[in-house]
Amino acid sequence: MFQLYASGSFSIETLTVKMISLGLITKNGGTLQESVVHRVLRSPFYYGKMVWRGKIEPGIHEPLVDYDTWLLCQRVMNTHNQNGSRKRKHNFLLNGFLYCEDCQGRFYGEQHLKRGKLYRHYHCGTCKKGTYSDIDELEKQVKKWFGKVEMTEQYANELRSKAKDIVESLRGTTNDERQALVNQKTAIDIKIRNAEDNLLDGTFKKDQYQRVIARLEADLEGIEDGLAKTTKDYSKGLSQVERLVDMAENIKQTYHDAEPEMKREYLDLFFSKFMVKDGKIVTALPSEYIKPLIANGKLTVRVRNGWLPG
Ligand SMILES: [Zn+2]
Repeated sequence: MFQLYASGSFSIETLTVKMISLGLITKNGGTLQESVVHRVLRSPFYYGKMVWRGKIEPGIHEPLVDYDTWLLCQRVMNTHNQNGSRKRKHNFLLNGFLYCEDCQGRFYGEQHLKRGKLYRHYHCGTCKKGTYSDIDELEKQVKKWFGKVEMTEQYANELRSKAKDIVESLRGTTNDERQALVNQKTAIDIKIRNAEDNLLDGTFKKDQYQRVIARLEADLEGIEDGLAKTTKDYSKGLSQVERLVDMAENIKQTYHDAEPEMKREYLDLFFSKFMVKDGKIVTALPSEYIKPLIANGKLTVRVRNGWLPG
């Protein structure tokens, strides 16, 4: 199962169907569920580790899969997730960053139509009532927080190396996507050749052959488009990271101009949480990347006010 998924040619859904067709059932003899497949693929248990008190420790059991294959599965899954949630990210840019000042719970993005008007807000999943905050207003406030970040040369340097990591991971993701597409392309090429053979040996009538070829060529075109797009996505991300480094002294504008996916990267770079009360962001917590700089007293990132130390 790990090997199939690592090939990149399966989604969780199609892999589940495949495993059922191969006769895999649950411990209790029930039908295999997608959620189970997802959990198994994610679990470090299967390459021989145990999760113990939130830490990953070596286990004493026989591993079912080697670490490299497991790791490849995680990357495939991340690639799929990223593609699947691109739209959502755009809608709710701040999902995962907003927390409730009163109860410390998470805020969630939500939108609904009411008498033809679209309402969009974030709200505390626990307090709910009274915490509904306008999306645009909160996103505007986050932008202001980027304006509070003053960057020194030393921090700009640290940022450069972090930006390099982002470029590396973009490259990795793109390679995974490309590989999956190339595999699909190869599979279709083989099918086309088979169809040609079938025509030649008389298994296919001419109109049958033409129908099959038309379908395969349409598929092929879709894949070619996908391949062209991965290259474009990657170079777009790359140029934005380069811009971030060049414009380190004007992070607010850089953030403002960025595409939603890059906005999420910038948010990750600078902030771990924004605490919300009465529709306002009252505090911003720095990210793990810049926390050490604050904690060891170097304070290379100076922010005018409102930061919680460390
Ligand atoms: Zn709350």
